[in-house]
Amino acid sequence: MHIQAEGTAIKPVRLFRINTGSCNGCDVELAVTSAVTEFDVEQLNCRYTESAHEADIVLVTGPLTVRAREEVLRLYAETPREKVTVAVGVCPVSGGVFRGSYAVDGPLERYLPVDVNIPGCPPRPQALLAGIREALEIRHARHEGGEPKRAPGDRKQSDTDNFPARGRLSFDAGACVDCRMCRHVCAAGAIRFEEGENGVRLTLWHNSCVFCGLCSYYCPTGALSVTGDWRLDHPAAHTFRQVERGEVPYAPCAGCGEPIIPAAPQLLHDAFRRPNPDIERLKSLCPACRQQMSIGVPRR
Ligand code: SF4
Ligand code: SF4
Repeated sequence: MHIQAEGTAIKPVRLFRINTGSCNGCDVELAVTSAVTEFDVEQLNCRYTESAHEADIVLVTGPLTVRAREEVLRLYAETPREKVTVAVGVCPVSGGVFRGSYAVDGPLERYLPVDVNIPGCPPRPQALLAGIREALEIRHARHEGGEPKRAPGDRKQSDTDNFPARGRLSFDAGACVDCRMCRHVCAAGAIRFEEGENGVRLTLWHNSCVFCGLCSYYCPTGALSVTGDWRLDHPAAHTFRQVERGEVPYAPCAGCGEPIIPAAPQLLHDAFRRPNPDIERLKSLCPACRQQMSIGVPRR
């Protein structure tokens, strides 16, 4: 029980859920935040409500399907004006694995103002509590004026210290060989490559990544790895800042001078174990010069 003054209980903050056509993964995790004591939203003085009119915080799941859109907008219009809106999971933010589907009309921000994103597919209960806490800070600041006690998006080390779980991906550009296998296996379309002036840039967007770990599993060099940093809630205004980036620098081909991405030393070590002079020469050549050197095919 949260006590404001002797004999006066603080009114609980009401949470209202809207499912916009989700797979129900996020909704199951939200159920944990009312059914399991350790993760119960009551510890934040929150309660779930079935009434849209009572909503202080609206939790939205799903990618906003074409079929659900009108009903979602009708329901949302019934909620009070001053509520805080939270996008739960990557679906409402980017569509997640449903991005680009003919049946999806999101992202949610096309139709509704969003205050907080909680990435994940689904976000684990700890992440949901962290995101709801962030929404409470925003609500408090709106009602009372002034700054939130903890700036939205701030993360404490202790948030992630003691709970081993799959979280955001980390990228080591020095180990990458630009094979693009990661992009090939990523069902969420979270990875993008761009040719830059000095190298190839990889961008991995946390608001689309579902932490499946496939890119890390298939990466031949270990350039991508899954971290235990699951605490990714952030203000919706920072949606496109939630990225992992790195540039893999070009080097000139030893034969013709064309810019190439040389093979990473770790990859060569894993493949050949001991130094191999032929491979050492080949690794600094572009594909056309390698062809010429190894099978005598002249450059086109
Ligand atoms: S991160 Fe790994 S899989 Fe992706 S392009 Fe680089 S080496 Fe290939
Ligand atoms: S873990 Fe890798 S493959 Fe899986 S969604 Fe994230 S970026 Fe894509």
